[in-house]
Amino acid sequence: MDTKIVILDVNNIAQDTINEAGIVIKEGGLVAFPTETVYGLGANALDKTAVEKIFKAKGRPQDNPLIVHVANRNIETLVKEVPDIAREIMSKYWPGPITLIFNKSDLIPSTTSAGLDTVGIRMPSSVIARRLIEAAGTPIAAPSANISGRPSPTEVESCIEDLSGKIEYILGGEKSQIGIESTIVDCTCTPLCILRPGAITIEMLREIDDNIYIDKNVMSKPKKDFKPKAPGMKYRHYAPKSPVKIICGDIEKTIAKINEIVQTNMGNKKIGIIATDETKDKYPFGTVVSLGNRKQLETVGRNLFEVLRSFDAIDVDLILSEAFEEKGLGYAIMNRLKKSAGFDITYV
Ligand code: AMP
Ligand code: MG
Repeated sequence: MDTKIVILDVNNIAQDTINEAGIVIKEGGLVAFPTETVYGLGANALDKTAVEKIFKAKGRPQDNPLIVHVANRNIETLVKEVPDIAREIMSKYWPGPITLIFNKSDLIPSTTSAGLDTVGIRMPSSVIARRLIEAAGTPIAAPSANISGRPSPTEVESCIEDLSGKIEYILGGEKSQIGIESTIVDCTCTPLCILRPGAITIEMLREIDDNIYIDKNVMSKPKKDFKPKAPGMKYRHYAPKSPVKIICGDIEKTIAKINEIVQTNMGNKKIGIIATDETKDKYPFGTVVSLGNRKQLETVGRNLFEVLRSFDAIDVDLILSEAFEEKGLGYAIMNRLKKSAGFDITYV
């Protein structure tokens, strides 16, 4: 299939292009598009046949439901009810990087919800994303625009790499501001439960609901036969081609441990190191890439997936990564890093 690729000027968004991509969605095709979290691969969320194409293009497991993206807060027709507490979250954090799970209405095909009675809904803050949804005239189901299992794309080049030739349209815009997928909150239970950490942190959500908690399976290695509430949690995710190992603990000890592993393997293994601005000069050997300044976790989050992807291009045998404190945005960053490492962590 020929994929049309158009890069938008974010300071002067061409409405003709948005309309053209909107028509592709309306007619049952697939469009990759930017959002503030990561790039999404969109189809008409209400069209079963269109949504099936997403699973096929990504190689996504059939039991992994899709998030439905909307352009405004009028979601009554898509869900059975909107609890008051969900309304509060929507008025405070929508548009933005948070997905809410509701009991779904019959309008949502079971292909979109992967057979669940619930649906995840998000209103993105990205202007391009919202204008695309408006132009399509329908909610857009969109997982991340990568081949399943690979790190999510936060730049259009990564979408092109994974999906060119497989979908009708790739809409480029700016690099994703946040770089990590949305926080997912289950609003069908009391108290509310976080199924995936993201840029809207538990600390922020506790200002609305003291009792909100994080599902205990979020930060642990999925066991065999594990049936998580967010089906996506059981799959290996965000993984570059080479294995990733996290070294976690005091930063000086981390640096020493990473250098020790590199030196032990010198001569037979090519090793990549995921470092930070403060530490990158302390590794004399190995291919060192910085995620940014440790004191600016927003930058670390924004760079994480593209740094993971960058190691595929240089073909290393092993990637060693520093860790971050599991607090605020650091919790979501560590969640993605641990998954990319298949929970291979050495504590120092
Ligand atoms: P992605 O779009 O690739 O970021 O993946 C979407 C994530 O949202 C996956 O982990 C899904 O399991 C989760 N998800 C989507 N819809 C639901 C739902 N109705 N209930 C629970 N988790 C969901
Ligand atoms: Mg994904």
